[in-house]
Amino acid sequence: MRNAEQTRNRRGTRMWFLLLLITLSPYHLITCLHCDDKIISLTFHDGPNPKSTPQLLKILDDANIKATFFVVGKMVEKYPELLREIHKRGHQIANHTYNHKNLKTLSTTEVISELSRTRLLIKDITGVDSYLYTPPGGQYNSRVIKEANSCGYKMALWSVFPEDHRNPSPIIYEKVITTSRDGSVVLLHNGPPDTIDALPKIIEKLKARDFKFTTLSELLTQGKGKHIVYPRD
Ligand SMILES: [Zn+2]
Repeated sequence: MRNAEQTRNRRGTRMWFLLLLITLSPYHLITCLHCDDKIISLTFHDGPNPKSTPQLLKILDDANIKATFFVVGKMVEKYPELLREIHKRGHQIANHTYNHKNLKTLSTTEVISELSRTRLLIKDITGVDSYLYTPPGGQYNSRVIKEANSCGYKMALWSVFPEDHRNPSPIIYEKVITTSRDGSVVLLHNGPPDTIDALPKIIEKLKARDFKFTTLSELLTQGKGKHIVYPRD
């Protein structure tokens, strides 16, 4: 009887010792540091733009964060030096077609041409081969997804859209702050002055809430992006 009790006590001590070890082990500590990470990705559509791209880059640099620029081919052709600058500052560059047309209205050949022209421009100017794209105006269907997929292109959408192309700065701020959460992808535009005005405040507020900013590819690599709106038909 006494022996059984001693064995139980020894087992109990061992269990507590084991729990203590797990708690103190560096692996556990590292896991805990990462499990609370809130990661968010800012994306900017429609650039590069000679007025707002330098402003955006300065805001992002000042905040020491990286973002993703979905660029339009015809703008890239006009302002290749801006694309180079975006790349030089460490931001991700991805594809937003060449002419910014509704992909649903184009033939299959035209869809692929829209994506390929911009992919090749990005590659020529920065050396980066990007297969990630967003459809202009969020317009797509199963044919667009399938044909683009067959050429290796991957569609990405977003989960937070403050409609910054038509809203004033305080509304943009409010919408982003109230709807952002871990893994969110925020769609903003590389152009509107109200976006430029709202952005520093948005970043400051999200940082205060312990959000970390990363590129879209990095977000997806980390298995986040669970709030991204995936393509549907
Ligand atoms: Zn667009």
